Amino acid sequence: MKILVPVKRVIDYNVKVRVRPDGTGVETANVKMSMNPFDEIAVEEAVRLKEKGIATEVIAVSCGGAACQETLRTALALGADRAILVQTDVELQPLAVAKLLRAVVQKELPQLVLLGKQAIDDDANQTGQMLAALLDWPQATFASRVDVAGATATVKREVDGGLETVEVALPAVVTTDLRLNEPRYATLPNIMKAKKKPLDTLVPGTLGVDVAPRLVTVKVTEPAKRKGGGRVADVKELVAKLRSEAKILP
Ligand code: AMP
Repeated sequence: MKILVPVKRVIDYNVKVRVRPDGTGVETANVKMSMNPFDEIAVEEAVRLKEKGIATEVIAVSCGGAACQETLRTALALGADRAILVQTDVELQPLAVAKLLRAVVQKELPQLVLLGKQAIDDDANQTGQMLAALLDWPQATFASRVDVAGATATVKREVDGGLETVEVALPAVVTTDLRLNEPRYATLPNIMKAKKKPLDTLVPGTLGVDVAPRLVTVKVTEPAKRKGGGRVADVKELVAKLRSEAKILP
């Protein structure tokens, strides 16, 4: 069974994101970039399925500029067998990514596509769902456990107030939640080995996909500054403030 793992290059989660002064987006120049954390979890899960003898090949795919090669090399160092870069400098929105991934799926014919539940830069939480719809495949989102047996995947999903277990027939799309696993670190020997693993480059044109953005970003602004907290002398004052300021007490 082949597993396709889409990985997105995003601003590292430790970086304090700054809005560009002209409000057209966020500053990405000279900013540390990394693999989207949910995608690291997806790579880890795919590699574990391979280690269990369930998957035969793990293919990482990233859509974006040439720098995404670095993200793909990380996926290869974590255990993916080969990588595909769909290279474009156009700003990609989830629908365009889903269409590119559909084209890659049609070429590679994986039984499972394991994506992150969302990218921490745009927080869209759309690509996996759109891909499943475009392929007309079953989907199980927000997975905190994935068991594959034969032609079925049993997925525990994190839902409000608990866990839901669903069964999907393969081929299927699964998106990862935080508690699915704890990704391994890439070891130095594996980083060296990753340099020799195959990385193919495709372009949207040859995949027959129009990646032109459908949405226009009108404006990006910093979140409102939080007001500082205050101290209260005693419970009486706290209750009075909850009544008069927070208005959460009658
Ligand atoms: P989003 O819908 O943007 O929140 O992203 C959800 C998931 O889709 C991510 O965790 C990735 O697995 C995948 N994805 C989104 N954008 C890309 C991209 N440019 N290249 C590869 N995978 C992507």
